[in-house]
Amino acid sequence: MRRALTEARLAYDAGEVPVGAIVLDASNNVIGKGHNDRERTADPTGHAEIVAMRAASATLGTWRLSGCTLIVTLEPCTMCAGAIVQARLDRLVYGAIDRKAGAVGSLWDVVRDRRLNHRPEVLAEVLADECGALLTEFFVHRRVG
Ligand SMILES: [Zn+2]
Repeated sequence: MRRALTEARLAYDAGEVPVGAIVLDASNNVIGKGHNDRERTADPTGHAEIVAMRAASATLGTWRLSGCTLIVTLEPCTMCAGAIVQARLDRLVYGAIDRKAGAVGSLWDVVRDRRLNHRPEVLAEVLADECGALLTEFFVHRRVG
């Protein structure tokens, strides 16, 4: 999660909503990382999880991320939760809860929906205070500035 937070700070410094993510392979090597870059890329899918999963898939040369773990500083939205299922990730670890848009327990629980044929293991609220504080700071400053 510390590595994901480093990514989130890069987003913060670039004026993007500070969410960061990394993907680990089965041996815990970082094979993909990324942060929210929607503003810079003008891409609605530019969420940290998608950026990190694209990088991991490029590293492995396959869309299938079986055996891998995604670590992200904020509870994934519906799009990212769907992509996590599509990528067949084994494990999802997230930091702050997103009560307004979260799709891994808050508004929906996409990754643990029994109707889907793949359900990654979930570990929630890891360093949640630190992950959430960065987001709060970002939005406070944006309102003032
Ligand atoms: Zn998302």
